Amino acid sequence: MRMASAVSALGVVIAAWVAAWAIPAHAGGNAGDAGRALPARVIDVHLHGYEADAVNEAGPYYGIDAATRDAPTPANGAAHRQATLAAMERNHIVLGIVSASDGSDDLIVARQWAGKPGPRILTGVTERPMAHGVAPERLAALFDDGTYFLLGEVGLQYRGATLDEERFEPYLAMAEKKGIPVAVHTGLGPPEMARTVAPEFRIEAGNPIPLEKVLIRHPDLKIWAMHSGFPWDAEMFAIMQQFTKIYVDISPLPWMMSQEIVDRRLKWLLDWGMGKRIMFGTDQMYWPQAIDAAVSAIENSTVLTREQKDDIFYNNAVRFFGADRLNLPD
Ligand SMILES: [Zn+2]
Repeated sequence: MRMASAVSALGVVIAAWVAAWAIPAHAGGNAGDAGRALPARVIDVHLHGYEADAVNEAGPYYGIDAATRDAPTPANGAAHRQATLAAMERNHIVLGIVSASDGSDDLIVARQWAGKPGPRILTGVTERPMAHGVAPERLAALFDDGTYFLLGEVGLQYRGATLDEERFEPYLAMAEKKGIPVAVHTGLGPPEMARTVAPEFRIEAGNPIPLEKVLIRHPDLKIWAMHSGFPWDAEMFAIMQQFTKIYVDISPLPWMMSQEIVDRRLKWLLDWGMGKRIMFGTDQMYWPQAIDAAVSAIENSTVLTREQKDDIFYNNAVRFFGADRLNLPD
């Protein structure tokens, strides 16, 4: 994380939720190997980008895969983008959904990533305009002209806020009316957030339960819980059980934790009957090589059938977003 510069920017880190110190011994993985098993096609619903000239001051890699851990970290936002696109291509990721992170400007990142050669990219706008009270009509115009595809990553936990607050209602009403997907960060963040870069960060604000009010008020809102709410498992299940249209993404577990933990998490979701509502997401942050490890962890999972893997990698996202809206390559 760019701890120092993040303070000087907006002081908000939109990132993953797992404590870097909580990493167990590595349990496998062959990312980067020639000839490793790969799915036919993948949609990655959770990628991050940075402004092209933003200097990368990432700390140590959060992941545990030896082959990817020691890979060089891109020097700046432009190199990060190139490395991410290359990782997408070698992992058969035909479509990626990208939002800004760590103080990079939403609009600049969206314009630098979209409409270029390579894998198809759709871009999101973070919670920043909502948190700053930007007029909803102004934001709406950027959806109407195709600049943004989704409202997300909505990282309100880093601001100690939750999506059910009244001040966010106009944005959610807009998203519901226009069919804009909303991706809300749930769960946790990197260690020591409140005492370092995000003083307003609160554990409680990662609880998925406030989504209940949102989903009652906006029955047609297309929403997914990023990071599948971990460690609020009972609460995440309750929301998914009651609101059958909400999906989750599995990031950043597949590259950050051991295969055993990834499999346990997947099995938990599958045992509760949620296999059709899990989407593949990487949350690669500063480490494009995480994409290799994440794809391999799902592909190599021993608890998933081929059909379940393909659902997570691709089919569930197509169903959630709608094939017509994704305009997928043939
Ligand atoms: Zn997140």
